[in-house]
Amino acid sequence: MEVRVRYAPSPTGLQHIGGVRTALFNYFFARANGGKFILRVEDTDQERYSDESLEDLYNTLNWLGLKWDEGPLVGGPYGPYVQSERFDLYKKYAEQLVVDGKAYRCYCTSERLAALRSEQQAAKSELQGYDRHCADLTDEQRSELESQGLKSVIRLKVPTQGKTTIHDVLMGDITRRNRDVSPDPVLLKSDGFPTYHLANVIDDHMMHITHIMRAQEWIPSGPLHILLYEAFGWEPPLYCHLPMVMGKDGQKLSKRHGSTSVKDFREKGYLPEALMNYVSLVGWSYDGQREFFTKEELEEVFSLEKINKAPGVFDYKKLDWFNGQYIRQKSDGELAQMLLPYMVGAGFAKEPLTSEVQAKFDALVPVVKDRLKVLSDVVPLSRFLFEEPEYSDPSLFIAKNVEPSVALAALEGVYAILKKGLADKVPTEEMEKEMVELATQLDIKINGVFMPLRVALTGSLVSLPLFDSIFLLGQEKTFARIETALSVLRSEG
Ligand code: ZN
Repeated sequence: MEVRVRYAPSPTGLQHIGGVRTALFNYFFARANGGKFILRVEDTDQERYSDESLEDLYNTLNWLGLKWDEGPLVGGPYGPYVQSERFDLYKKYAEQLVVDGKAYRCYCTSERLAALRSEQQAAKSELQGYDRHCADLTDEQRSELESQGLKSVIRLKVPTQGKTTIHDVLMGDITRRNRDVSPDPVLLKSDGFPTYHLANVIDDHMMHITHIMRAQEWIPSGPLHILLYEAFGWEPPLYCHLPMVMGKDGQKLSKRHGSTSVKDFREKGYLPEALMNYVSLVGWSYDGQREFFTKEELEEVFSLEKINKAPGVFDYKKLDWFNGQYIRQKSDGELAQMLLPYMVGAGFAKEPLTSEVQAKFDALVPVVKDRLKVLSDVVPLSRFLFEEPEYSDPSLFIAKNVEPSVALAALEGVYAILKKGLADKVPTEEMEKEMVELATQLDIKINGVFMPLRVALTGSLVSLPLFDSIFLLGQEKTFARIETALSVLRSEG
């Protein structure tokens, strides 16, 4: 039997970490088993649908390099793969269920249903939900209602007795009493649109899906889906509901924890291979030890058995760490290409680059490489190369427990050391020693010397390593900035 799995998102929002984790697991499982990975767009909810979400779905999967074997844009033998293009099919199958006595038409108006709901709530009645009012209408009653112009929905006849079991590869058997399944859910709405449950089950069957890997949130819908398979007389696929993705606080991952949309991660400068590698480890592990996997490796080693039952924790810091590792694996040339859009976006460079900017850029990349968690970090770290600092807060020059006059003396001393020695572009170890001595003479910590220098060069307390900054800035600018900083400090004093 060929493995066929699908990722079936609803384009009602941006792709987020949880969804992408589902996509990845399905994709890797298909690849590891020589099967097919199918993309299906579940756009039955026309109110929440947006073009932007659909676009984002395609962009996200393309960015991650997840190619679907069948689906929108590429087609396949069981298409179309967009549910809104399959409405006739759902209608046909729903009507067949009516003919077979597994479903029935309900003519209740929304007013009646609303009244029923408030009655049930007021009476705290045991039955909450549809009261099967139309379950046993005769043909005459139906024709009568139709002749009054009443529209109907189609509802599944859920058995009132017995139990339904879903076999879940991961969770084991999950059994529910049928009377706890919501009474007679709507399959087809009065406008002919299917509900999620109907379309989902029909498509999984028609598309010959063998395994359903989806979020655990869908477990409550499971019994209803099984009942639908039974009503149609179809064999259900194997289920594997995936553990939740949580933040470090044990709550379901959400915006409160930080970015969750893949678009955000992409824009901040996470690399697809880093995100893919890390997200694959949220709820799955190879041997509990190994952490680094290329996409190709995951395509080989992924297996259902190693999915954890416990929820997976998404740790932003860990992702940053992975991202840094992947950034440092890039050659300087590759990294330069990846950083360029951020430099252009910040207004530091325009394409095509002038030779002067190109040269700055070539010097910058190897220096900044070790310091990047995400590509966009390059902007604050290199701003000093492209913009003059403002020194709007002179207190920045002055380290803790240092008198302003001593800070001034420190910067003057450093300037003298650099002026004397900075024949080459890079300050020497010798000069560093002299700076340490200077600190001793002034009876301050070395930071008391480096801090005014750092602020003079960059206008900021955080920067690339100081001597690298001097090298990148060049002698002329280095000296000019120190002089400006000195005059700021003097006028403060
Ligand atoms: Zn009814």
